[in-house]
Amino acid sequence: MCGIAGIYSHKSVANELYESVIHLQHRGQDAAGIMTYDTRMHKHKGLGLANEVFTEDNLQLLLGNVGISHNRYPTHGGFSHGEIQPVWTSVPYGIAIAHNGQITNYDELVEEVTKKEKRYLNTTSDTEVLLHILANELDKNGVPNTSEEFFDHLCVAVSSIFKKVNGAYSVTALVVGKGLVVFRDPRGIRPLVRGERDNNGKKDYIFSSENTMFYSLGYEPKGNVLPGELIYIDNEGKLFSKRLVKEEFNPCIFEYVYFSRPDAVLNDVGVYRSRLRMGQNLAYAWMKKYPYIVPDIVIPAPSTANTAALSFAHEIDVRYSEGLYKNPFVGRTFIMPGQDERKKSIKHKLVPQDTEIRDKKVLIVDDSIVRGNTSREIVRMVRDFGAKEVYFVSACPPVKHPCYYGVDMPTSDELIAGNKKVEDIKKYLEVDVLLYQEIDDLVEAVTRIGDHHIDSPCMACLDGHYVVNGRKVHEMVNV
Ligand code: SF4
Repeated sequence: MCGIAGIYSHKSVANELYESVIHLQHRGQDAAGIMTYDTRMHKHKGLGLANEVFTEDNLQLLLGNVGISHNRYPTHGGFSHGEIQPVWTSVPYGIAIAHNGQITNYDELVEEVTKKEKRYLNTTSDTEVLLHILANELDKNGVPNTSEEFFDHLCVAVSSIFKKVNGAYSVTALVVGKGLVVFRDPRGIRPLVRGERDNNGKKDYIFSSENTMFYSLGYEPKGNVLPGELIYIDNEGKLFSKRLVKEEFNPCIFEYVYFSRPDAVLNDVGVYRSRLRMGQNLAYAWMKKYPYIVPDIVIPAPSTANTAALSFAHEIDVRYSEGLYKNPFVGRTFIMPGQDERKKSIKHKLVPQDTEIRDKKVLIVDDSIVRGNTSREIVRMVRDFGAKEVYFVSACPPVKHPCYYGVDMPTSDELIAGNKKVEDIKKYLEVDVLLYQEIDDLVEAVTRIGDHHIDSPCMACLDGHYVVNGRKVHEMVNV
């Protein structure tokens, strides 16, 4: 999971792209980068949080009214500065891209790029392969004279990508002398929203993984880049768009469970409302299954589960309490690299509140249980602080399978539900009751209302049904 953005404006975009990486920081804390274009490309990227990478001085050098940005999520294995996005190539035109997702037929595509097309790959990043495929396809079509002709060339090139490239990819790209290009894979697995702004009678455009920066930048939400859609904005601000293929729309359900910020609206479904409904459905299941077990207090495992815990507590008519204080200056544990760091960080991050926990029957609501280690530590902390009984509910069903579409849960061995039954997980967590959300109830929570066009969300990590051939996967995940 990463965060991407692309802006075409009638004023300088550097500061707005910086604000975008700040508002997408939760999607990737490993590295950040911005590329802009005026008469040539300008770039700045580096390791770390956006406010460590960018300064007033280096932002001033990012000239131009069009640009793209990237927040990077930690990868498996190796990592080099060259893999920080956006990545670019000088032939043809000069093309830079930022990518969120993961390509599942990487090896096959590397063969094509390096052996058939004789291009050199500088990294093991799947984004670099995607860049070269786009460059190759554009290179085949000669020199366009007009924006209309260039859009035709793009349609041919991106259609070819849709045929060749499997997996998940939402993309923003800059093409020297041409403008901004945006496209989303035919299943729409990773999100990509769009917004518009009036700028003294002219239109500015933004495309990003979430709409979390729209309000502060003055953009109006204008829906989504559709699955299989290509959008091109030329240097004069003329927008061209075409849905090149129409397949089933299968956006990632985990965006609603965990990844996205609660104020985001993705695929025309509000994340906050979907989380409220997750808590509601889970509460109905709790009351049906355990009508005689009534906790004294409902505590969220902060902070993604806050929303679901709020509606859960409301439905079962039990007091909601922030009995675990979260230190806001520690990063989200799930996306920190390495198990040791994750283990160390939980006690730095959470502080139980004695008055809320001691001598009480505590029900903890979590958004999901992925590896199980964080959940177990939370339970231990709550017991250390004198809870009489501990119940644990998960707003997400058991996560049993790896994700091949851009999320760091690579093997079943690392997933607690990948190799343990619910009863065994209950023992491992040392809880008195454990309840998971049912898959149907989760889907209902996400798709219940709204004018959305989701056919069925991707739930491969829950049900093992991979919406595009997910089993062949590039080892060095780059999302
Ligand atoms: Fe999202 Fe899971 Fe599908 Fe990966 S497998 S895209 S995490 S729903």
